[in-house]
Amino acid sequence: MSHTGKVAIITGAGSGLGQAAALKLAEKGASIVVVDLVEETGQETVKQIEKLGAKAIFVQADVSKASDVENYVKKAVEEFGRIDMFFNNAGIAGPGVKLIEHTIEQFDKIIDINLRSVFYGLKYVITEMLKTGGGAILNTASTAGIVGVPAVAPYAATKHGVVGLTRTAAIEYGKDNIRVNAIAPGTIETPMVIQFGKDNPEVFKATVDSIPSGRLGKPEEIANLVAFLLGDEAPYINGAVYPIDGAVTAQ
Ligand code: NAD
Repeated sequence: MSHTGKVAIITGAGSGLGQAAALKLAEKGASIVVVDLVEETGQETVKQIEKLGAKAIFVQADVSKASDVENYVKKAVEEFGRIDMFFNNAGIAGPGVKLIEHTIEQFDKIIDINLRSVFYGLKYVITEMLKTGGGAILNTASTAGIVGVPAVAPYAATKHGVVGLTRTAAIEYGKDNIRVNAIAPGTIETPMVIQFGKDNPEVFKATVDSIPSGRLGKPEEIANLVAFLLGDEAPYINGAVYPIDGAVTAQ
């Protein structure tokens, strides 16, 4: 499986799942457009990619702003000429409280960063892919996009929304040689989850205890699936939502 000569945009590539996927695709020969809100960590990912002998640029963006999303797509095309792969991944967790305890502001923020961002990314990247003959897109949903999960109601709403966008886009653009899939990770050991665990120890313990595989997932395990689903060995996988959760949603 090789991604040599391909160009990938990855949002949230300064940390966690996005960074692991960026390094995996770079290792396989892709050029990477590293998108993140935080310049320092984004630049660090660029350095690590360059050490692997691959090309990368950093584009700072707040993915909840349409103009920033339009800009990272524009920068990707200016630098590399086309977009073959898109990992539409950046997101946040939310406070870890029951539904009525979420404020309206918290709800709006999670919707903006986790759902509007994915719509904007699809809108601008698909527009570009239509000009160049197609591509592969992977959105990051969650097990909370498949089943209800206590303490994260707005997050679950956004991830169910990501699944809806994924399936609809796949149906609409399949004949244009654009594949759109989603991954639904369980609890993966990234900075987001480590922080959530510190802030909400009881909720976190219950979550970890309920994983049939008996442990958290690792970012590298997600990166392997990302590379496969975005690659040439998955040409007939379209409109799918892949759980990667240690059997959490099998229960
Ligand atoms: P993370 O916090 O380690 O990384 C997220 C990255 O996104 C960070 O670099 C952050 O700076 C960036 N980001 C946050 N808000 C942004 C914004 N407005 N604009 C641009 N970049 C922004 O988290 P992670 O665990 O790697 O999460 C990545 C994605 O995976 C998220 O969509 C998350 O919901 C999803 N997810 C994570 C898990 C898990 O267990 N880690 C499980 C299911 C789904």
